[in-house]
Amino acid sequence: MTKKKTESAAHHEAGHAVACSVSGLKIKNVVIDNLTPMESKHYCDHFGSLIDGVPRDPQNNGSVEAYEAEARNYLVGPCAEMKLGYREEGAIRDEFDYKQAQDTLEALYGIENPYLISERLQVAEENATELIERHWPAIVAVAKVLVERKKLLGTEAKQIINSIEGQNP
Ligand SMILES: [Zn+2]
Repeated sequence: MTKKKTESAAHHEAGHAVACSVSGLKIKNVVIDNLTPMESKHYCDHFGSLIDGVPRDPQNNGSVEAYEAEARNYLVGPCAEMKLGYREEGAIRDEFDYKQAQDTLEALYGIENPYLISERLQVAEENATELIERHWPAIVAVAKVLVERKKLLGTEAKQIINSIEGQNP
């Protein structure tokens, strides 16, 4: 991966990690693997689920808030890259995370309500942007260590987040 791609991926996964932390989810691993461009894999997983891999958060308790937070948490990844300036505005509609957020909201509101889904996707994107603005220093701090180490345990990511934000942000 180029330096720019590594940094972009690091901020993407750091964004998911901080979003999971904000949602009170326990993070398992945050990984940017850069063996070769073809094999590169990035993910943030929390216990029971890969955020870049599985549509449903197993800790989602079925409430409207839990589904909407889950949709937001997916969008925080690509939105963090956008804030970094490495991804163009509006490009997230092509993203895997965007599809995941859409699936999550369809599970909540029903696939027969496309207008409502697109409205709630817009809200999820606004919520993702707001979360990123509020927690940007923590995202940058996690991304910095991720660029150096390529993999962080959830406990290490949480320590970095807490060192920036304190225990009760
Ligand atoms: Zn992602």
